[in-house]
Amino acid sequence: MERYPFQYDPTQSFISQVSDWVADVFYDILPDAGFEVRDEQIYMAFQLERAFAEKQTIFAEAGVGTGKTLAYLLYAICYARYTRKPAIIACANESLIEQLVKPQGDIAKLAKHLDLTIDARMGKSPDQYLCLRKLDEVRHQPELGEDFQLIYQELPPFVHAYEALQSFYPYGDRADYPELNDEKWGMVNWDSFQDCFACEKQHRCGQTLSRNHYRKSADLIICSHDFYMEHVWTYEARKRGGQLPLLPSHSSVIFDEGHLLEPAAQKALTYKLNHAVFEEIITRLLKGEIRESLAVAVEDAITQSEEMFYQLDKHSQAVIGSKRREIHFDAALLQAINRFTEQIGWIEEELALESGLYTLDEFQLRIVEEHLEMMQLALSLFRQPDQVISWMTQEGTGTGSTLVVMPKMVQEVLKERVFAEAMPIIFSSATLSVDGSFQFVADNLGISHYLSFSVPSPYDYPEQMEAFVPHLSDESVFQEKMKAATALLKRTEGRALLLFNSLEEMRQFKQAIESVPECADMRIYYEGDQEITHLISCFQEDEQSSLCAVSLWEGLDVPGSSLSNVVIWSLPFPPNDPVYAAKRKSATVPYEEVDLPYMLLRLRQGIGRLIRTREDSGIVSILSTELYTNDKLRQHVKDVFPAGVEWKTVL
Ligand code: SF4
Repeated sequence: MERYPFQYDPTQSFISQVSDWVADVFYDILPDAGFEVRDEQIYMAFQLERAFAEKQTIFAEAGVGTGKTLAYLLYAICYARYTRKPAIIACANESLIEQLVKPQGDIAKLAKHLDLTIDARMGKSPDQYLCLRKLDEVRHQPELGEDFQLIYQELPPFVHAYEALQSFYPYGDRADYPELNDEKWGMVNWDSFQDCFACEKQHRCGQTLSRNHYRKSADLIICSHDFYMEHVWTYEARKRGGQLPLLPSHSSVIFDEGHLLEPAAQKALTYKLNHAVFEEIITRLLKGEIRESLAVAVEDAITQSEEMFYQLDKHSQAVIGSKRREIHFDAALLQAINRFTEQIGWIEEELALESGLYTLDEFQLRIVEEHLEMMQLALSLFRQPDQVISWMTQEGTGTGSTLVVMPKMVQEVLKERVFAEAMPIIFSSATLSVDGSFQFVADNLGISHYLSFSVPSPYDYPEQMEAFVPHLSDESVFQEKMKAATALLKRTEGRALLLFNSLEEMRQFKQAIESVPECADMRIYYEGDQEITHLISCFQEDEQSSLCAVSLWEGLDVPGSSLSNVVIWSLPFPPNDPVYAAKRKSATVPYEEVDLPYMLLRLRQGIGRLIRTREDSGIVSILSTELYTNDKLRQHVKDVFPAGVEWKTVL
């Protein structure tokens, strides 16, 4: 394979030679191959040149249909080859990763039309892989069906028998089990209760093998924002523990849908505490020949942990529409936390003594020490509610409640660990600026120096998009929504994407539509029933089908008539959970600073799912009662629509 797709002259600037090649690609090669190249795309490509030449961060705001992916891929691939380090493309979620690497995706298109061999590998999050240990636990339970036995039988041979390392290959990706619904997948995928370091199957596990595979990529590694942030956050600890970082050293980072990076950073910086995990880890100490005082300290710590989690459960309250339970502090809870942290401190002192005696396995000792250190840190943060957002939740089955502690501010960490490095970092999205300025997003992410530009969408929206926003009466709103949705589904004979704001809303719709005779013959797919990428391709290929989803407001790219109708079931205001409750609490005018901007951004993304090419056309509908009772809100929502698109109130 030629290293560069152009004749490289080492006496000249590399990036300016890339720019000359990019000009050839956009002005000659792609148009000759029948591609529609847009002025906005060319403009964007040349703006990126500066970010790569100066190793700077750039906010690249480009409207829907600009073709921003092709523009950044060209620079990222050449720069990766020049530096001999891959570029990282971080997408907002796992289904967007798949969209980028699918056979009809942008990477494959570039490879084909530029006659390039592009080495692009996926670095998915751990929960996207099969866990052999969990599979072993469930496959013998006949009441769960034969799915798990089948998965077991289809595992590669090297999982069961000794084979040379050369015969190992990655397997066990969520996408390999398209028919399995999310609930069943949750019984066999990796979760945060699995301790991979201490797992005897680690070397044959699909997750480990996939990591080894993507680490060797020469050009591109495609991962999620969550995974990139997990990499940043665990980088030092993994190095200290003698492990490789999650991602290899890289030459540039592209945050696709970059406006979603902040929540991913918060999520990665989150601490999770669970009694069952603590007990499992701490009792490892009892397996060694330890002094009695340490054994007593361990037993006491288990009792104190039980008491603390009992108090946490007692003091947490369910929140409607959320799985997160709100925690209310009182003296008994604080006392239980203090007792437990004192107990951990005691064990830490005992361990310091014990380590000098060399009676404990060094590896196990390190795992225990790191876990205790994490717990101390998390609990000390937990006692400062101004700094963190915390809640109780149920993760995994039979493991009891989990305490989650998440920092409110992530700017300092990002500033120090991501943006301090001289490296091209590209934020690409259709929605990055607020009132023409990028300062809001830059401040939220701790970015002090950046380049930026905005290019509008090239589409003729008044010609291509219809908008339907009916009056709905408050009394029988659900029935009226059902009536409107049925009429819309009939009008386009399926071909609809229905976006819901919660799983609960989607479930109610699913139940009600089953008894609507006009829709009896329609094929409607629901998020969660099968693997998401598989569902999207069913929806795309089966032209008259419809897709109901909660998480596809962003990034879904289905050009053509399969998606001619976007129905927004309700305005996507943020959930009423502890994370948003905390954000509201620290805002001066919560509705204006938290709820409204979140909703408008998400709504703009949802509307953007309809028109994906110049040939697309269709209708976007919003089913909301508030729009005719709140003038200010109506104006905000109207402003989210592309200029010139008028609202209709009757179909
Ligand atoms: S290495 Fe981790 S994910 Fe793999 S089987 Fe072991 S515990 Fe499960």
